[in-house]
Amino acid sequence: RGKKAFVAGVADDNGFGWAISKALSEAGAEVILGTWVPALNIFETSYRRGKFDESRKLSDGSMMTFSKIYPMDAVFDAMDDVPEDIATNKRYAGNEKWTVSEVAKCVEEDFGKIDVLVHSLANGPEVAKPLLETSRKGYLAAISASSYSNVSMIQHFGPLMNKGGAAISLTYLASEQIIPGYGGGMSSAKAALESDTRVLAYEAGRKWGIRVNTISAGPLGSRAAKAIGFIDKMINYSLSNAPLKEKPLEAIEIGNTAAFLCSPLASGITGATIYVDNGLNAMGLAE
Ligand code: NAD
Repeated sequence: RGKKAFVAGVADDNGFGWAISKALSEAGAEVILGTWVPALNIFETSYRRGKFDESRKLSDGSMMTFSKIYPMDAVFDAMDDVPEDIATNKRYAGNEKWTVSEVAKCVEEDFGKIDVLVHSLANGPEVAKPLLETSRKGYLAAISASSYSNVSMIQHFGPLMNKGGAAISLTYLASEQIIPGYGGGMSSAKAALESDTRVLAYEAGRKWGIRVNTISAGPLGSRAAKAIGFIDKMINYSLSNAPLKEKPLEAIEIGNTAAFLCSPLASGITGATIYVDNGLNAMGLAE
């Protein structure tokens, strides 16, 4: 039986979500997407116009396809939580059932049970501000979009996951070491995400028999990372200082690790933060 994966956080072909989808497709899984509502229209238009065709190519010559693309906003759990300005926002118009609980319900109706759940999304409106200048609102928004969104997804998708299934998210070293420039409470959000990975591994493991892990990824010039403003510096730092010196980190390396972690090959791994960063996390001091 082919495995079914729900991947949240794909809106172009540059980010980790796309690479994870590709690795899962290479491994024979069926991929279903949840794309942020305000990004959905441009993503679907670009997809239809063939903008991603080159990066959709799989090693056997076929093209990666998505069984369905749902609109989703992981900041809201149910329609009752949605404030008026979002409900009437024109970037949300024409879409419905995009809160986490509604998307989970639609996925269950359309596909039944799934095996793999991928959280590859984050948002911190004040990411460019140091913590000392971050507002309460900005800090809580970072936690809501980047950490609670994962808790919510596992709460709502857990009941429709097959035993032996696996959930994965993406984190960053700034959770545990000082990375100047990764502000707005995003470092705090990643610390919460990693801690939640352990607690959810326990709770969801006991409740549904699924595994929960997170990948601590090295720097990638994705759309989200460019918004932070210092990504080129981080990529160059890693190229000069990681144990695997001068080796660019490819998104597909994170994708392949995600596919491994969600496969039976990793049946004994849960609650773990796995580094895929050319080893940079292990360095104590630059050479
Ligand atoms: P990306 O821009 O490809 O992905 C982020 C996605 O999140 C986008 O598709 C965006 O539309 C979506 N999103 C934002 N808010 C959302 C919401 N409320 N609901 C649903 N979707 C929402 O960038 P990426 O760098 O591939 O990010 C994926 C994950 O990888 C994030 O968790 C990020 O923190 C993590 N990560 C990135 C790096 C890096 O250097 N790029 C390093 C370590 C970890």
